[in-house]
Amino acid sequence: MKRLLFLLLLLGLSGCSSITCAQDSAFARQVICTLASPEMAGRNIERDGAAKAAAYLSRCFSNMGVLPVDEQYYQYFSCPAFAMDGHAEVQLGLHSLSPQADYRIADYSAALHARLKIVRLSPTLLLPKNRALLEKWQQKAAKSRTPVAVYLNLAEPYKAASEAEGQEFLQAVLKLRYENPFHTAALLIEETQLPPQSLAGSEYERNFTVIYLRAGLLKRAHKSITVDLDNRHTRLATQNVCAMERGAVDSFIVFTAHYDHLGMMGTRVYYPGAHDNASGCAAVLDLARHFHHNPIRYHVLYILFSGEESGLLGSQHFAENPLIDLSKIRLLLNLDMLCGGSDGLMLENVMSIDSGRFYQGMAAANEQFRYHKNLKVRDNAPNSDHYPFTAKGVPAMFIYTLGGRYGGYHAPGDNCEQCGLEEYEQTVRLIISGIKKL
Ligand SMILES: [Zn+2]
Repeated sequence: MKRLLFLLLLLGLSGCSSITCAQDSAFARQVICTLASPEMAGRNIERDGAAKAAAYLSRCFSNMGVLPVDEQYYQYFSCPAFAMDGHAEVQLGLHSLSPQADYRIADYSAALHARLKIVRLSPTLLLPKNRALLEKWQQKAAKSRTPVAVYLNLAEPYKAASEAEGQEFLQAVLKLRYENPFHTAALLIEETQLPPQSLAGSEYERNFTVIYLRAGLLKRAHKSITVDLDNRHTRLATQNVCAMERGAVDSFIVFTAHYDHLGMMGTRVYYPGAHDNASGCAAVLDLARHFHHNPIRYHVLYILFSGEESGLLGSQHFAENPLIDLSKIRLLLNLDMLCGGSDGLMLENVMSIDSGRFYQGMAAANEQFRYHKNLKVRDNAPNSDHYPFTAKGVPAMFIYTLGGRYGGYHAPGDNCEQCGLEEYEQTVRLIISGIKKL
């Protein structure tokens, strides 16, 4: 039944085929729930999730009559990826752990099928002053016949002897998970909270496995851990989805959002990415629907990026290989995380670009209609897909909601049910108000 529903969505028989112009959270919810569905498998390499999402999004543009820039909606590129859609099971003693609730495996981990002896070590071994001790330990461990998993408890705060040593410790802890100075098959890391999933380490293949454990899970009595992990370092052949509406003035308003997310961790966990960033994609489609029926004098370009979670790779690819003349962009608005908004809206990089009229238009509309209780501004940062454009001198802003993130960050709970959308319609109306002033 689920498959049938998914096929209907892919064929565009629901959701994106409806022609209405009002900013509409029911429309947004349908798009978000489709993108965040198990069939899309977290919109990355696993189960062709990103490809399914791109097919659905291009069908949405096509159904509303918004055409590609050239002949096709896709701009192809590829990026490094890890496919973790096989086994990703961990057992402590006889107890099978629950993925994500009890443990998380770093995306770049090496595949591993072994029972490992747990060796508890002090994180102080990471300090430069203890290098000789560490080397001695490495030599001893290299002779061990049983594979070893080093366990480090980072939940307990480290009391450094000086500020410099505190800095050294922080640096060592940051490098630890990417470099594994112990040269063991696995690292078990306990922190106060399981860290969010990220694809930041996707570029390099490691020869060790990093497992984060829920605080308090590992007991003295646990002597070994069994890991059954399939993981493949490969490349994801993917695409940005681009569509365009032509206007009378030869200059562009560009709306962007990334549609990719974090894929899967084993067969039981996928990352739905409703807030991050099915919601931004829904808003871009909603804006496309609006401007198709209420044309403005500018060309309007829509770009839905892949590869954001792997390091802004889709937007970098577009900025390096633009389908339009970047110097003709009047304003680029990058939308991310629009499920929330209970604490207002953040506008990033407003002040350093010549978009005063847009901002003033938004601020005046907000004053008049009280769309959001709070419009905050902050400086530019390399935190989303506007950044590769600002680096090329394109006037680009990043807009995201504040508050109302109920499903967690980069976690399986960021799902369709947790996406409130209470402030969604106000957000889209506010953006349209600003665009009207340009
Ligand atoms: Zn993200």
